[in-house]
Amino acid sequence: MPNKNWIKYCTKCLIPATRPGQTYDEKGVCNACKEFEFRKQVDWEARDRELDTLLNQYRRTDGYYDCIVPVSGGKDSTCQVIKMLEKGMHPLCVYAAVDKPSDIGKRNLENMRQLGVDLVEVSTNPIARNKMDKISLMEIGDISWAENVAIFTIPVRIAVQMKIPLLIWGENPQNEFGGPKEATHNHILDKRWLEEFGGLLGFENHHVVGREGITEKDMVQFNYPSDEELKVAGVKGVFLGYFVPWDGYAHALLAQGYGFEMWPKSNEGALANYEHMDNLHAGIHDYFKFIKLGFGRATDHASLHIRRGRLSRKHGLEIVKRNDGKFPWTYLETTLEEILDDIDMSFEEFMQTCDKFTNKDLFLTDENGELIRDKGFNLTKINYDNVDEALMEAVDKQEVMSVNY
Ligand SMILES: [Zn+2]
Repeated sequence: MPNKNWIKYCTKCLIPATRPGQTYDEKGVCNACKEFEFRKQVDWEARDRELDTLLNQYRRTDGYYDCIVPVSGGKDSTCQVIKMLEKGMHPLCVYAAVDKPSDIGKRNLENMRQLGVDLVEVSTNPIARNKMDKISLMEIGDISWAENVAIFTIPVRIAVQMKIPLLIWGENPQNEFGGPKEATHNHILDKRWLEEFGGLLGFENHHVVGREGITEKDMVQFNYPSDEELKVAGVKGVFLGYFVPWDGYAHALLAQGYGFEMWPKSNEGALANYEHMDNLHAGIHDYFKFIKLGFGRATDHASLHIRRGRLSRKHGLEIVKRNDGKFPWTYLETTLEEILDDIDMSFEEFMQTCDKFTNKDLFLTDENGELIRDKGFNLTKINYDNVDEALMEAVDKQEVMSVNY
Protein backbone atom coordinates (compact mmCIF):
# COMPACT_ATOMS: atom_id res chain seq x y z
CA MET A 1 0.00 0.00 0.00
CA PRO A 2 1.50 3.37 -0.94
CA ASN A 3 2.64 5.61 1.83
CA LYS A 4 2.70 9.35 1.63
CA ASN A 5 5.60 9.98 3.95
CA TRP A 6 8.60 9.36 1.71
CA ILE A 7 11.87 9.69 3.52
CA LYS A 8 14.36 12.14 2.06
CA TYR A 9 18.07 11.29 2.34
CA CYS A 10 21.32 13.19 2.15
CA THR A 11 22.70 12.92 -1.37
CA LYS A 12 26.23 12.43 -0.04
CA CYS A 13 25.73 10.12 2.93
CA LEU A 14 22.64 8.19 4.03
CA ILE A 15 21.27 10.27 6.90
CA PRO A 16 17.51 10.81 6.51
CA ALA A 17 15.50 13.96 7.14
CA THR A 18 13.77 12.19 10.04
CA ARG A 19 16.85 12.83 12.17
CA PRO A 20 16.01 15.68 14.57
CA GLY A 21 17.79 18.89 13.59
CA GLN A 22 18.71 17.59 10.14
CA THR A 23 18.93 20.21 7.38
CA TYR A 24 20.01 20.05 3.76
CA ASP A 25 21.57 22.53 1.36
CA GLU A 26 20.31 23.15 -2.18
CA LYS A 27 22.19 20.08 -3.42
CA GLY A 28 20.58 17.90 -0.78
CA VAL A 29 23.75 17.59 1.31
CA CYS A 30 23.13 17.24 5.04
CA ASN A 31 24.56 19.36 7.84
CA ALA A 32 26.70 16.50 9.20
CA CYS A 33 28.42 16.20 5.80
CA LYS A 34 28.84 19.99 5.64
CA GLU A 35 30.35 19.95 9.13
CA PHE A 36 32.75 17.26 8.06
CA GLU A 37 33.83 19.39 5.09
CA PHE A 38 34.24 22.33 7.45
CA ARG A 39 36.76 20.31 9.45
CA LYS A 40 39.22 20.68 6.58
CA GLN A 41 39.28 24.42 7.21
CA VAL A 42 39.89 24.04 10.92
CA ASP A 43 43.44 24.71 12.04
CA TRP A 44 43.80 21.63 14.20
CA GLU A 45 47.26 22.62 15.40
CA ALA A 46 45.77 25.84 16.73
CA ARG A 47 43.01 23.83 18.41
CA ASP A 48 45.65 21.60 19.98
CA ARG A 49 47.37 24.69 21.37
CA GLU A 50 43.99 25.85 22.65
CA LEU A 51 43.66 22.50 24.42
CA ASP A 52 47.12 22.87 25.95
CA THR A 53 46.21 26.33 27.23
CA LEU A 54 43.04 24.95 28.78
CA LEU A 55 44.78 21.97 30.36
CA ASN A 56 47.52 24.21 31.75
CA GLN A 57 44.88 26.25 33.54
CA TYR A 58 43.78 23.14 35.42
CA ARG A 59 47.05 21.25 35.67
CA ARG A 60 48.12 20.60 39.25
CA THR A 61 51.54 20.14 40.71
CA ASP A 62 50.48 18.82 44.12
CA GLY A 63 49.87 15.26 42.97
CA TYR A 64 46.07 15.55 42.97
CA TYR A 65 43.89 14.75 39.95
CA ASP A 66 43.66 17.58 37.44
CA CYS A 67 40.72 16.40 35.35
CA ILE A 68 37.93 13.85 35.17
CA VAL A 69 37.46 11.63 32.16
CA PRO A 70 33.96 10.11 32.11
CA VAL A 71 34.47 6.61 30.73
CA SER A 72 32.53 3.63 29.53
CA GLY A 73 35.57 1.55 28.70
CA GLY A 74 34.71 1.93 25.02
CA LYS A 75 37.09 2.89 22.22
CA ASP A 76 36.49 6.62 22.59
CA SER A 77 36.97 6.80 26.32
CA THR A 78 40.10 4.66 26.02
CA CYS A 79 41.46 7.24 23.57
CA GLN A 80 40.36 10.17 25.76
CA VAL A 81 42.44 8.65 28.56
CA ILE A 82 45.41 8.03 26.25
CA LYS A 83 45.21 11.65 25.10
CA MET A 84 45.12 13.05 28.64
CA LEU A 85 48.08 10.89 29.67
CA GLU A 86 49.99 12.04 26.58
CA LYS A 87 49.32 15.60 27.65
CA GLY A 88 50.86 14.87 31.02
CA MET A 89 47.57 15.13 32.86
CA HIS A 90 46.62 13.11 35.91
CA PRO A 91 43.04 12.11 35.19
CA LEU A 92 40.52 10.43 37.43
CA CYS A 93 38.28 8.19 35.34
CA VAL A 94 34.63 8.02 36.34
CA TYR A 95 32.46 5.15 35.21
CA ALA A 96 28.69 5.45 35.59
CA ALA A 97 27.65 1.80 35.49
CA VAL A 98 25.46 0.95 32.52
CA ASP A 99 22.07 -0.77 32.65
CA LYS A 100 23.24 -4.26 31.81
CA PRO A 101 27.02 -4.48 31.57
CA SER A 102 28.47 -6.99 29.12
CA ASP A 103 31.46 -9.20 29.82
CA ILE A 104 33.38 -7.74 26.88
CA GLY A 105 32.60 -4.23 28.18
CA LYS A 106 33.93 -5.16 31.62
CA ARG A 107 37.12 -6.54 30.07
CA ASN A 108 37.59 -3.35 28.07
CA LEU A 109 37.06 -1.21 31.15
CA GLU A 110 39.67 -3.26 33.00
CA ASN A 111 41.97 -2.92 30.00
CA MET A 112 41.53 0.84 30.14
CA ARG A 113 42.58 0.91 33.80
CA GLN A 114 45.75 -0.84 32.72
CA LEU A 115 46.75 2.36 30.95
CA GLY A 116 47.64 3.37 34.49
CA VAL A 117 44.71 5.33 35.85
CA ASP A 118 42.47 5.42 38.90
CA LEU A 119 38.82 4.69 38.33
CA VAL A 120 35.73 5.49 40.36
CA GLU A 121 32.71 3.37 39.55
CA VAL A 122 29.25 4.49 40.60
CA SER A 123 26.48 1.92 40.29
CA THR A 124 22.88 2.62 41.09
CA ASN A 125 20.27 0.38 42.72
CA PRO A 126 19.52 -2.28 40.07
CA ILE A 127 15.97 -2.93 41.27
CA ALA A 128 14.98 0.72 40.86
CA ARG A 129 16.97 0.94 37.64
CA ASN A 130 15.10 -1.95 36.02
CA LYS A 131 11.81 -0.30 36.95
CA MET A 132 12.95 3.00 35.46
CA ASP A 133 14.03 1.21 32.29
CA LYS A 134 10.61 -0.36 31.88
CA ILE A 135 8.77 2.90 32.56
CA SER A 136 10.88 4.91 30.10
CA LEU A 137 10.67 2.20 27.45
CA MET A 138 6.88 2.14 27.69
CA GLU A 139 6.41 5.89 27.92
CA ILE A 140 9.06 7.47 25.75
CA GLY A 141 10.24 4.46 23.78
CA ASP A 142 13.73 4.52 25.24
CA ILE A 143 15.04 1.81 27.53
CA SER A 144 18.22 3.83 28.10
CA TRP A 145 16.79 7.03 29.58
CA ALA A 146 18.09 6.36 33.12
CA GLU A 147 21.48 5.41 31.77
CA ASN A 148 21.63 8.52 29.66
CA VAL A 149 20.90 10.64 32.72
CA ALA A 150 23.42 8.83 34.92
CA ILE A 151 26.22 9.03 32.35
CA PHE A 152 25.94 12.81 32.46
CA THR A 153 25.10 13.44 36.12
CA ILE A 154 27.51 11.07 37.88
CA PRO A 155 30.83 12.45 36.55
CA VAL A 156 29.64 16.01 37.28
CA ARG A 157 28.63 15.01 40.81
CA ILE A 158 32.08 13.49 41.35
CA ALA A 159 33.67 16.67 39.95
CA VAL A 160 31.83 18.69 42.59
CA GLN A 161 32.41 16.26 45.44
CA MET A 162 36.07 15.62 44.78
CA LYS A 163 36.80 19.18 43.69
CA ILE A 164 38.16 18.26 40.26
CA PRO A 165 36.57 20.99 38.12
CA LEU A 166 37.64 20.02 34.60
CA LEU A 167 35.67 17.31 32.78
CA ILE A 168 36.95 15.95 29.46
CA TRP A 169 33.98 14.57 27.55
CA GLY A 170 34.28 12.88 24.16
CA GLU A 171 32.76 13.80 20.85
CA ASN A 172 30.16 16.45 20.27
CA PRO A 173 27.41 14.27 18.78
CA GLN A 174 25.84 17.21 16.95
CA ASN A 175 29.10 17.74 15.11
CA GLU A 176 29.57 14.11 14.20
CA PHE A 177 26.00 13.08 13.47
CA GLY A 178 24.32 16.35 12.53
CA GLY A 179 22.38 18.95 14.49
CA PRO A 180 21.57 22.65 14.67
CA LYS A 181 24.44 24.90 13.60
CA GLU A 182 24.94 26.63 16.93
CA ALA A 183 25.27 23.21 18.60
CA THR A 184 27.81 21.77 16.18
CA HIS A 185 30.56 24.29 16.95
CA ASN A 186 29.97 24.29 20.67
CA HIS A 187 32.70 22.91 22.91
CA ILE A 188 31.05 23.21 26.33
CA LEU A 189 28.94 20.46 27.83
CA ASP A 190 26.77 21.89 30.60
CA LYS A 191 23.30 21.39 32.02
CA ARG A 192 21.73 23.38 29.22
CA TRP A 193 23.38 21.19 26.59
CA LEU A 194 22.26 18.10 28.46
CA GLU A 195 18.65 19.22 28.58
CA GLU A 196 18.61 20.27 24.96
CA PHE A 197 20.75 17.62 23.29
CA GLY A 198 21.39 14.91 25.84
CA GLY A 199 18.69 12.68 24.39
CA LEU A 200 16.55 12.72 27.53
CA LEU A 201 13.40 13.27 25.46
CA GLY A 202 11.89 15.74 27.91
CA PHE A 203 11.55 13.01 30.54
CA GLU A 204 12.66 14.05 34.01
CA ASN A 205 13.35 12.43 37.36
CA HIS A 206 9.99 13.44 38.78
CA HIS A 207 8.29 11.39 36.06
CA VAL A 208 9.50 8.17 37.67
CA VAL A 209 9.47 9.07 41.37
CA GLY A 210 6.49 7.66 43.21
CA ARG A 211 5.88 4.95 40.64
CA GLU A 212 6.48 1.23 41.07
CA GLY A 213 7.98 2.01 44.46
CA ILE A 214 10.69 4.33 43.09
CA THR A 215 11.56 6.98 45.68
CA GLU A 216 13.65 10.14 45.82
CA LYS A 217 16.27 8.01 47.57
CA ASP A 218 16.71 5.96 44.40
CA MET A 219 17.37 9.12 42.40
CA VAL A 220 20.34 10.60 44.25
CA GLN A 221 22.83 9.80 41.51
CA PHE A 222 20.45 11.03 38.82
CA ASN A 223 20.37 14.56 40.18
CA TYR A 224 22.52 17.14 38.45
CA PRO A 225 24.42 19.32 40.94
CA SER A 226 22.83 22.69 41.65
CA ASP A 227 24.03 25.86 39.94
CA GLU A 228 25.47 26.97 43.26
CA GLU A 229 27.45 23.75 43.71
CA LEU A 230 28.75 23.98 40.15
CA LYS A 231 29.79 27.57 40.68
CA VAL A 232 31.59 26.88 43.93
CA ALA A 233 33.48 23.96 42.39
CA GLY A 234 34.09 25.93 39.16
CA VAL A 235 33.04 22.96 37.05
CA LYS A 236 33.81 23.16 33.37
CA GLY A 237 33.00 20.36 30.90
CA VAL A 238 34.47 20.36 27.40
CA PHE A 239 34.12 18.14 24.36
CA LEU A 240 37.49 16.73 23.35
CA GLY A 241 35.96 16.44 19.87
CA TYR A 242 36.27 20.22 19.54
CA PHE A 243 40.04 20.03 19.91
CA VAL A 244 40.82 16.92 17.86
CA PRO A 245 39.27 15.74 14.57
CA TRP A 246 37.09 12.95 15.92
CA ASP A 247 37.09 9.60 14.14
CA GLY A 248 35.58 6.65 15.98
CA TYR A 249 37.14 4.10 13.65
CA ALA A 250 40.64 5.54 14.14
CA HIS A 251 39.99 5.45 17.88
CA ALA A 252 39.04 1.80 17.63
CA LEU A 253 42.34 1.03 15.89
CA LEU A 254 44.36 3.00 18.44
CA ALA A 255 42.49 1.48 21.38
CA GLN A 256 43.01 -1.97 19.90
CA GLY A 257 46.73 -1.31 19.91
CA TYR A 258 46.40 -0.88 23.67
CA GLY A 259 44.55 -4.15 24.19
CA PHE A 260 40.97 -3.05 23.52
CA GLU A 261 38.83 -5.99 22.46
CA MET A 262 36.37 -5.93 19.57
CA TRP A 263 33.34 -8.15 19.10
CA PRO A 264 34.05 -11.02 16.63
CA LYS A 265 31.48 -9.76 14.10
CA SER A 266 29.39 -6.65 13.51
CA ASN A 267 27.01 -5.91 16.36
CA GLU A 268 23.38 -6.64 15.54
CA GLY A 269 21.79 -3.78 13.61
CA ALA A 270 25.13 -2.08 13.09
CA LEU A 271 28.06 -2.00 10.73
CA ALA A 272 30.74 -2.03 13.36
CA ASN A 273 32.21 -4.42 15.89
CA TYR A 274 33.96 -1.79 17.97
CA GLU A 275 31.30 0.23 19.74
CA HIS A 276 28.12 0.00 21.81
CA MET A 277 29.51 -3.13 23.45
CA ASP A 278 29.38 -2.08 27.08
CA ASN A 279 25.62 -2.08 27.62
CA LEU A 280 23.51 -5.01 26.48
CA HIS A 281 20.42 -2.79 26.31
CA ALA A 282 21.92 -1.01 23.29
CA GLY A 283 20.17 -3.36 20.84
CA ILE A 284 16.73 -2.36 22.11
CA HIS A 285 17.72 1.30 22.35
CA ASP A 286 18.89 1.31 18.73
CA TYR A 287 15.84 -0.63 17.53
CA PHE A 288 13.54 2.03 18.95
CA LYS A 289 15.48 4.73 17.19
CA PHE A 290 14.90 2.77 13.98
CA ILE A 291 11.15 2.39 14.44
CA LYS A 292 10.70 6.04 15.45
CA LEU A 293 12.96 7.65 12.87
CA GLY A 294 13.42 5.03 10.18
CA PHE A 295 17.16 4.62 10.56
CA GLY A 296 19.50 2.83 12.92
CA ARG A 297 23.16 2.39 13.77
CA ALA A 298 24.08 0.86 10.42
CA THR A 299 23.00 4.12 8.72
CA ASP A 300 25.07 6.15 11.18
CA HIS A 301 28.12 3.97 10.66
CA ALA A 302 27.82 3.79 6.89
CA SER A 303 27.43 7.58 6.75
CA LEU A 304 30.53 8.17 8.88
CA HIS A 305 32.59 5.95 6.56
CA ILE A 306 31.11 7.41 3.36
CA ARG A 307 32.02 10.92 4.53
CA ARG A 308 35.58 9.83 5.11
CA GLY A 309 35.84 8.12 1.73
CA ARG A 310 36.18 4.64 3.21
CA LEU A 311 32.96 3.31 1.74
CA SER A 312 31.03 4.17 -1.41
CA ARG A 313 27.48 5.42 -0.98
CA LYS A 314 26.31 2.46 -3.09
CA HIS A 315 27.94 -0.11 -0.83
CA GLY A 316 26.83 1.80 2.24
CA LEU A 317 23.26 1.61 1.06
CA GLU A 318 23.48 -2.14 0.48
CA ILE A 319 24.93 -2.66 3.94
CA VAL A 320 22.21 -0.53 5.51
CA LYS A 321 19.51 -2.58 3.79
CA ARG A 322 21.04 -5.76 5.14
CA ASN A 323 21.67 -4.63 8.71
CA ASP A 324 19.63 -1.65 9.82
CA GLY A 325 16.75 -2.04 12.24
CA LYS A 326 16.63 -5.81 12.64
CA PHE A 327 14.26 -6.93 15.37
CA PRO A 328 16.39 -7.14 18.56
CA TRP A 329 16.01 -10.86 19.35
CA THR A 330 19.65 -10.95 20.43
CA TYR A 331 22.37 -8.44 21.18
CA LEU A 332 25.96 -9.52 21.74
CA GLU A 333 25.86 -11.75 24.83
CA THR A 334 22.17 -11.48 25.61
CA THR A 335 18.67 -12.15 24.33
CA LEU A 336 15.53 -10.06 24.26
CA GLU A 337 13.93 -12.65 26.52
CA GLU A 338 16.59 -12.16 29.18
CA ILE A 339 16.27 -8.38 29.14
CA LEU A 340 12.48 -8.48 29.29
CA ASP A 341 12.76 -10.88 32.20
CA ASP A 342 15.10 -8.42 34.01
CA ILE A 343 12.71 -5.52 33.62
CA ASP A 344 9.62 -7.64 34.25
CA MET A 345 7.98 -6.99 30.91
CA SER A 346 6.06 -9.57 28.89
CA PHE A 347 6.75 -10.11 25.19
CA GLU A 348 3.20 -8.90 24.45
CA GLU A 349 3.83 -5.67 26.34
CA PHE A 350 7.07 -5.27 24.43
CA MET A 351 5.34 -5.73 21.07
CA GLN A 352 2.59 -3.29 22.02
CA THR A 353 5.29 -0.79 22.96
CA CYS A 354 7.05 -1.33 19.63
CA ASP A 355 3.80 -0.74 17.75
CA LYS A 356 3.05 2.34 19.81
CA PHE A 357 6.36 3.97 18.90
CA THR A 358 6.65 2.87 15.27
CA ASN A 359 6.13 5.70 12.81
CA LYS A 360 3.69 3.89 10.54
CA ASP A 361 4.28 6.34 7.73
CA LEU A 362 7.81 5.06 7.31
CA PHE A 363 7.10 1.32 7.03
CA LEU A 364 4.93 -0.95 4.94
CA THR A 365 1.46 -1.53 6.29
CA ASP A 366 -1.40 -3.73 5.13
CA GLU A 367 -4.78 -2.53 3.85
CA ASN A 368 -5.94 -2.03 7.46
CA GLY A 369 -2.98 0.17 8.25
CA GLU A 370 -1.35 -2.55 10.38
CA LEU A 371 2.41 -2.90 10.23
CA ILE A 372 3.65 -5.79 8.12
CA ARG A 373 6.31 -7.89 9.83
CA ASP A 374 8.28 -10.73 8.26
CA LYS A 375 8.95 -14.10 9.88
CA GLY A 376 11.68 -12.54 11.99
CA PHE A 377 9.31 -9.71 13.02
CA ASN A 378 11.26 -7.23 10.90
CA LEU A 379 9.57 -4.21 9.36
CA THR A 380 10.10 -3.02 5.79
CA LYS A 381 10.93 0.59 5.12
CA ILE A 382 9.14 2.21 2.24
CA ASN A 383 12.25 3.77 0.74
CA TYR A 384 15.93 3.40 1.56
CA ASP A 385 17.07 6.12 -0.78
CA ASN A 386 15.76 9.23 -2.47
CA VAL A 387 13.20 8.45 -5.11
CA ASP A 388 12.24 10.38 -8.17
CA GLU A 389 9.76 13.08 -7.15
CA ALA A 390 7.41 12.44 -10.06
CA LEU A 391 7.32 8.79 -9.11
CA MET A 392 6.61 9.63 -5.47
CA GLU A 393 3.71 11.75 -6.55
CA ALA A 394 2.36 9.05 -8.85
CA VAL A 395 2.47 6.49 -6.06
CA ASP A 396 0.89 8.90 -3.60
CA LYS A 397 -1.96 9.48 -6.03
CA GLN A 398 -2.14 5.73 -6.44
CA GLU A 399 -1.46 5.98 -10.17
CA VAL A 400 1.35 3.54 -9.59
CA MET A 401 0.52 0.87 -7.07
CA SER A 402 3.87 -0.47 -6.04
CA VAL A 403 7.49 0.44 -6.28
CA ASN A 404 10.15 -1.98 -5.24
CA TYR A 405 13.03 -0.43 -3.32
ZN1 LIG B 1 25.18 13.70 4.66
